[in-house]
Amino acid sequence: MIDLCSQDTNPLLSLPEALARVRAALLPAAGSEKVALKDALGRTLTQPVYSPINIPHERNAAMDGYALAASDIAPNQPFSLHLAGTSWAGRPFQGQLQPGECIRIFTGAVLPEQADTVIMQEQVRADRQTIHFPAQARPYQNVREIGEDTRQDTCLIAPPKKLTAADLGLLASAGVCEITVKRRLNIAFFSTGDELTALGQALQAGKIYDSNRYILSGLLADPGYSIADKGVIADDRDKLEENLVEAAKNYDVIITTGGASVGEADFVKDVLASCGQVNFWKIAMKPGKPLAFGKIGNCYFFGLPGNPVAVIATFDQLVKPALKQLAGEPFTKPLRLTAICTSSLKKAAGRQEFQRGILTQSDAGKLLVASSGKQGSHLLGSFSRANCYIILPADCTGVEAGEQVTVEPFSLFV
Ligand code: AMP
Ligand code: MG
Repeated sequence: MIDLCSQDTNPLLSLPEALARVRAALLPAAGSEKVALKDALGRTLTQPVYSPINIPHERNAAMDGYALAASDIAPNQPFSLHLAGTSWAGRPFQGQLQPGECIRIFTGAVLPEQADTVIMQEQVRADRQTIHFPAQARPYQNVREIGEDTRQDTCLIAPPKKLTAADLGLLASAGVCEITVKRRLNIAFFSTGDELTALGQALQAGKIYDSNRYILSGLLADPGYSIADKGVIADDRDKLEENLVEAAKNYDVIITTGGASVGEADFVKDVLASCGQVNFWKIAMKPGKPLAFGKIGNCYFFGLPGNPVAVIATFDQLVKPALKQLAGEPFTKPLRLTAICTSSLKKAAGRQEFQRGILTQSDAGKLLVASSGKQGSHLLGSFSRANCYIILPADCTGVEAGEQVTVEPFSLFV
């Protein structure tokens, strides 16, 4: 890895460059495990799953109505058939359907072998055991054919796939009860700073509550990750090194917040350089300029800024894609849209900015975005009110109300 920290004359890395470096440096964590289907939501499939059965398994009705053989339909005129019985979902008709007969059938109920058509009950008049069908009853309608969804032995889901509720349903419909998924990524996170106070304690002069570990535990809530909140490390070089070296032995990834800048009490970069390798540490994004990425032994390290707003922005833009890669998840580009900005936005040229906005859609379908308020990177309130980033390019020097901007909705899709 190149140590860019010693090259202070280097321009800041752009976010795409930083992402490319991170991607190039990461090797997905090895190992998979078998899990029960009920525990598989959000896990990443590592082996294809083949269907042991046809889905549907048997020919069944798509409607409540009457099942009959198409050969009994009188072309272009009303006709009547004798009612021979009923097929319920789960309780099929036991007899043989004879010519001139039909049966009452309910959605999901199996069709007798001789039947190939279901006519909706709304189109039919029942007179005791005689059922009157209308002219133009279409043959072969309202039947779910065997294997129409999936044929036996074909691939139901291919890896890599982060499993959704629909995936679980699909696998369950095939009777699959156990699957092989990527093992969980082990992630430890720390806050750093002498000013940090745990919740539940009174604030002393000069102290603040530690928001970042709550932010990170929320951002890292993912079935593919096993996370460990390792508490607060004081602004003490030796303590920081000790904690990071120890955690690096047991985790795939360490994330710290704070201490990544150039202040007297900012030791993250130095410690990383002495016990591991630093890949880069300043990127041209706002919020979030000081950011260290590197490795301690086999453990990847992300040193995020201290300001809570910067923590979320750098996590979303850089750490999250990296974790997805490490976890063997498929690559998904974030959804970015164009919207009309209804606020004027201040910005200085230089860094790409991720301002926070409120995205709405007008009755006519137009996407509109307004600033969520003051944008300081210590101001979580405007983040809490927001539902999207407003992404302003490095060379932008502000936005007038009415101009188009690029927005990125906060993770709709995990
Ligand atoms: P630093 O990078 O350590 O200089 O921190 C930058 C700013 O973020 C300072 O105002 C810190 O007090 C604040 N900060 C650092 N860590 C946290 C945290 N865990 N929760 C809330 N604010 C923090
Ligand atoms: Mg600090």
